Amino acid sequence: MTGQTDANSRVVETHFKVTNPNELFRGTILIIAPHMDDETLACGGIIAKLPQKEQIHIIYATDGMKSPSPIFPRRDTISPDLGELRVKESKSAMRLLGVPDENLHFLRMPEAKIREKKIALLEKLSKIINDIKPDFIFIPFRYDRHQDHLAINDVVIKGLTQRLFKAQIVEYFVYYRWKLLPLQDIRKYIKTQFLIKFSIDDVAAQKRKALDCYKSQTTLFYPWQTRAILNSALLDEECQNPEYFLIYEPSYSGAAIFKHSIIWIKIVHYIEPFLQRWKYFTQARLKRALKNYA
Ligand SMILES: [Zn+2]
Repeated sequence: MTGQTDANSRVVETHFKVTNPNELFRGTILIIAPHMDDETLACGGIIAKLPQKEQIHIIYATDGMKSPSPIFPRRDTISPDLGELRVKESKSAMRLLGVPDENLHFLRMPEAKIREKKIALLEKLSKIINDIKPDFIFIPFRYDRHQDHLAINDVVIKGLTQRLFKAQIVEYFVYYRWKLLPLQDIRKYIKTQFLIKFSIDDVAAQKRKALDCYKSQTTLFYPWQTRAILNSALLDEECQNPEYFLIYEPSYSGAAIFKHSIIWIKIVHYIEPFLQRWKYFTQARLKRALKNYA
């Protein structure tokens, strides 16, 4: 807890007993989402539950132009309007959860490329953070599976360490299903003292409605797609299960949050995204080939 403010220390000490997000996340909340939908997938339940809607801000870092992305890059056409459509989708989703339009900040940085633009990202984030002065900043989990998610975690922790801004950092989980791990869920390997979970049963329907606003992700947006980015079973699961958060503690950075040796976690973190992408593209290409043959 060294170097933290009293307020932040209280957060870390008391989070175990907390069952309602209102008791913990008071004041101004900032959620930094790499892509439009991450904020609802990971935090939609607590956004719905928190009463201070006027004090909830969302920053969307990327332009949303790469999801869905072509299976055959030269053959599959993509829409130049996808990014703006996703902006509209996120506005609709946040309206359903009660967050005002003026609290949504769109940085429109190139999707899947922000790790190459970390200096610019830190500048843009610092400006907004110092403007709204949040008490809590929500960022993707430090061992998340997408490069944009990891870039945001890295940049925000750097900004905090360099004292460019001050807030209690909270990490949220989007890619927590790790199929190559024996327990298949990365959250099960984290020391329980850092994790907090909130049941979202009472707002599950509201979260599902908000997720359904992301039609570009939940349906076949392009005719060449063989599956939706987010399928119905996954959306149901995201609305039925509790939401988990990791309370960031500076003295437990990196792998120090895990219960045991993390060699296998590091290996899986590296190889599983490649295998999943390979599986997805192979299946999609096979389906397309069979469709053309038939
Ligand atoms: Zn994302």
